[in-house]
Amino acid sequence: MSKNSGGDRPQNLKPDTHLVTAGRDAAAFHGFVNAPVYHASTVLYPSAEDLLAHRGRYTYGRRGTPTTDALEDALRTIEGPLCAGVAFAPSGAAAVSTALLSMLSAGDHILVTDSVYRPTRVFCESVLKRLGIETTYYNPLIGSAIETLFRPNTRAVYVEAPGSQSFEMQDIPAIAKVAHAKGAVVMMDNTWATPLYFRAFEKGVDLSIQAGTKYIGGHSDIMFGTISANEAAWPKLKDFTHTYGLCVGPDDIYLATRGLRTLSVRLERHQKSALQVAQWLSERSEVLRVMHPALPSDPGHAIWKRDFTGSSGLFSIVLKPIPEKAVLAFVNALSLFGLGFSWGGYESLVILFDCSTYRTATQWAPGGPALRFHIGLEDVGDLISDLERGFSALHAAAR
Ligand SMILES: *Cc1c(COP(=O)(O)O)cnc(C)c1O
Repeated sequence: MSKNSGGDRPQNLKPDTHLVTAGRDAAAFHGFVNAPVYHASTVLYPSAEDLLAHRGRYTYGRRGTPTTDALEDALRTIEGPLCAGVAFAPSGAAAVSTALLSMLSAGDHILVTDSVYRPTRVFCESVLKRLGIETTYYNPLIGSAIETLFRPNTRAVYVEAPGSQSFEMQDIPAIAKVAHAKGAVVMMDNTWATPLYFRAFEKGVDLSIQAGTKYIGGHSDIMFGTISANEAAWPKLKDFTHTYGLCVGPDDIYLATRGLRTLSVRLERHQKSALQVAQWLSERSEVLRVMHPALPSDPGHAIWKRDFTGSSGLFSIVLKPIPEKAVLAFVNALSLFGLGFSWGGYESLVILFDCSTYRTATQWAPGGPALRFHIGLEDVGDLISDLERGFSALHAAAR
């Protein structure tokens, strides 16, 4: 390897250095820093013999290009040495459904956290059910007592921490220990922490999913998903994604790679600002509760501190009971917080939510209206001023 190949890197690099250097091969790309965007289907073979033998590094666009290889190499490196391979999906939701379909068959049973991302739940209740795969939801606080929910046909446990909207933490190592003793695989939605802040494979996870739409992309301009697998799960995942025909267009792959290079510096700011805003909100008289596992007051804080190395920009709050029009006035008065779904981009967002209609293993009765914030990369003082204006509007409307 020549000096600038990117393939000849020193051992024991830290994650931030991997983010910048992994998956680069300037020697192969005429000296350019970034991998080119190959728009490709057909790969031409030099001879009939080569074609018959499918000989060559690349065989067909769907099976990978130098553009997808660059991102796969980078992501595998960032997931750590226990990661055997990474598959891509055209959205986070497609990554979730692919992970589930790759591991489960008719007659199987899966345990899914009650705090799971809601569309994952909808997939279990529609497609998995139709295929004869049964789902049991468990309380995210269950820990090793999850053992009592296993059946002879339980093949997988699906964890997500912190929980979607409500931010419950789970004892993933304890759950994984039970699952592995029972011969089940552990899948995780690791979108919130990313591999930088939660080392999924080192904590017992076999398949780790990310909605790349969020922090990997980081700019609210792509739909993308990743599924990383350890040695045990990778052959099945790889065969399934190839057979299923899953692939992602090269422009989105390129944007994901580009986003990945700055993931660490963006997350640092998201983390710092979100903690500041969460702390500020926790001291407001209008706020009943802040759900953010990195706050010492959070019930999941001990687990977060033990297992995670950072927190990101997403958290929720519960307001003290007020008329709905006052909640709407609060949200409508915000000018820096966009009203919209998704998160993980550079911009701040807020949504209103209510988990009470669909949770089944737990009860969602937070004691007041609930809001979820994504803290973006704006100046945190400006964001807090915006929230102050929101609270003024809330009081005016409540009168
Ligand atoms: C957004 C999200 C997804 C789905 O990702 P899309 O790219 O929007 O399909 C999955 N899991 C979590 C936790 C998410 O927040």
